[in-house]
Amino acid sequence: MTCVPFFDLKRQFRSLRDEILEEITAVCDSQSFILGPKVEMLERDIASFCGECQAIGMASGTDAELALLMGLGVGPGDAVVTSPFTFFATAGCVARLGAKPIFVDIDRNTFNLSPTRLEEFFNSDCTLDETGLRTGEGLLVKAVIPVHLFGLCCAMDEILSICSRVRVPVIEDAAHALGAEYPSADGRKRAGAIGEFGFLSFYPTKSLGGFGDGGMALTRDATLAARLRVIRNQGMEPKYYHEVVGGNFRLDALQAAILLKKLPHLDEWSGRRWEIAQYYRAKFRELAPALQSPVEPFAESIGVRGHTYHQFVVRTPRRDELREHLRSFGIGAEIYYPVPLHRQKCFAKIDATSYPESESAASQVLALPIFPELTDAEVEIVAEGVASFFNK
Ligand SMILES: *Cc1c(COP(=O)(O)O)cnc(C)c1O
Repeated sequence: MTCVPFFDLKRQFRSLRDEILEEITAVCDSQSFILGPKVEMLERDIASFCGECQAIGMASGTDAELALLMGLGVGPGDAVVTSPFTFFATAGCVARLGAKPIFVDIDRNTFNLSPTRLEEFFNSDCTLDETGLRTGEGLLVKAVIPVHLFGLCCAMDEILSICSRVRVPVIEDAAHALGAEYPSADGRKRAGAIGEFGFLSFYPTKSLGGFGDGGMALTRDATLAARLRVIRNQGMEPKYYHEVVGGNFRLDALQAAILLKKLPHLDEWSGRRWEIAQYYRAKFRELAPALQSPVEPFAESIGVRGHTYHQFVVRTPRRDELREHLRSFGIGAEIYYPVPLHRQKCFAKIDATSYPESESAASQVLALPIFPELTDAEVEIVAEGVASFFNK
């Protein structure tokens, strides 16, 4: 029986095994595990990789987001707007701080936060006064978090301009999209550093993955960057003096050392993901409209960097049958995400509204294998497997 795994981290490790083990040994010999020079080096490399910004290493993507929200003063009485079609952490951090996550539906084609819906929400449900933008129930809108889902940047020029008119900061959730580029009106920019604030995740299965949890906050605001460095270390500055309440959100030296070895390969890996995506897209063209491939709105202007394909997500009303069909051939496929956040039990009391595009996406999307180490033969098996379902 043919077998194509949805994901196989061992292949990447095999290709870098010796140099990574050397780095791990060096950190063990130093017995210096928390922050330190390796973390600082990674912060510098990620900052220059993403563009003009400061990078602050965090224990996870979730902690990076939490620290950013804390740094911007989000708390009870506040609201933060985001997409319901994302990983839980995006809205979870907001709720943990006592603020209310408010959902705005996605664009049907890109799966990303819809600028049109966002503007509608601001115009029809909020009022702007000298204290800021307030929701109907009087909550202060403190931030908007667009998520660059699956490796495709949101319509950031539109979102940034809508938000700047009402003076609301934008925090990019770039956990899926490190290295993805966006053709903004003032030049090409990279996910997480298109606006003023963003965060990354180095969870092992993300496009740049550590050997455990890790993340990073990005900002162009030097004052906030300094505050984040204090917040990630219990709000302590100097030692044993606490002006603010922070947490333990520090990145490990071991993770930083490993990520430093992987980062130089990231663009090449994303390029391979793009190549696989183009193969799938060509094969699936004749299956439309029963099966829809991901859209590439920036392909014409910036090509290969316009989508980093953290996931290759197809859409079909026969999603569950297709997944079963692939499984019978030993081909892995996953659903990101089966339940939109407003339908999660823990948020049931927050929002009873329906977000039709997010609900429809949740019932129709399927992610196919797309990692850089897939062989051409495996990619063909996946493509044939999908085609055989629709052509039978
Ligand atoms: C992975 C992920 C996060 C959180 O990152 P962790 O490192 O797992 O804490 C946040 N948002 C999205 C969209 C993610 O996929």
